[in-house]
Amino acid sequence: MTRAAGVQVARGRIVLVQEQRFRLVAEGGRSLRLTLAHDAPLGTDDLRRFCEEGTPVTVAYTGEPGLTSGVAHRVVRDPSSAASQDGPAEDTPPAGRPTGLRRGQGAATSNGRRLARLRGALRDWALPRQLRGQDPLGSAAESEGSRRLRPRLEEADRVGTSICPYCAVGCAQLVYARGNDVLHVEGDPRSPINQGTLCPKGSATIGWMTSPQRLTTVRYRAPYADHWEEKPLEWAMDRIARLVKQTRDETFVRQLPDGVVVNHTLALAELGGATLDNEENYLIKKLFTALGMVQVENQARI
Ligand code: SF4
Repeated sequence: MTRAAGVQVARGRIVLVQEQRFRLVAEGGRSLRLTLAHDAPLGTDDLRRFCEEGTPVTVAYTGEPGLTSGVAHRVVRDPSSAASQDGPAEDTPPAGRPTGLRRGQGAATSNGRRLARLRGALRDWALPRQLRGQDPLGSAAESEGSRRLRPRLEEADRVGTSICPYCAVGCAQLVYARGNDVLHVEGDPRSPINQGTLCPKGSATIGWMTSPQRLTTVRYRAPYADHWEEKPLEWAMDRIARLVKQTRDETFVRQLPDGVVVNHTLALAELGGATLDNEENYLIKKLFTALGMVQVENQARI
């Protein structure tokens, strides 16, 4: 990446396009989230085409130094990257041990490999490059291996939207997937609530989504039972509704002994979850108050 008069230039491939926004995986594996400037001489259809064709592009953009997002003013095909794709592959490993080795040649080959490994280690050693003035957090820290690393987002073939399940802030998320496998979850920059950010808990949503210990079916433990049973969701909903009605009917108090009218039950309580929205909370409060419940609470207030 280069920079001139506030404009930075990055080369890479576009991996996702969302309306005016797109993600560029730049050379060196850096991933940039860019918004197309309204006066840019191309549109989202062009971005989509570059993305679908996997065309290497050069992007001129402005953004805060050190951040991985900005505004793209120009996106053009990158001819140099296209040409370099046709070059011969480097470091092609030998297909197997060559036949007809003369005596002593094996040892020489093994010494050669050791020497090559040593040269590679010296080449990847960051200290000499730092002493030569290269950025210790940038190019000086790169190794042959780290240059070959690719971001997992590059493999995503679709992206969906979601809401963080954890707290009442309700941060918007983007969920990247390949087929049915979730690859990555990050903040949605279009959200006025979190503007592309997530707290550490929200950033760990992928761990919760893909955990092998995650329960995805209804579990029921009958009274006095020592084990859990799997039940259909419909069965559970019916049972909850029936027990709420039964408890309410059995414990409903119309009047206190001193004659005060209360029309309530103290045997039921409700605790709402963090991801309920205003409309859901309104309906829940209305329903439960109509049933006579006094304790109606939400996790967000605890
Ligand atoms: S990302 Fe953090 S702040 Fe945002 S909703 Fe999730 S838990 Fe709350």
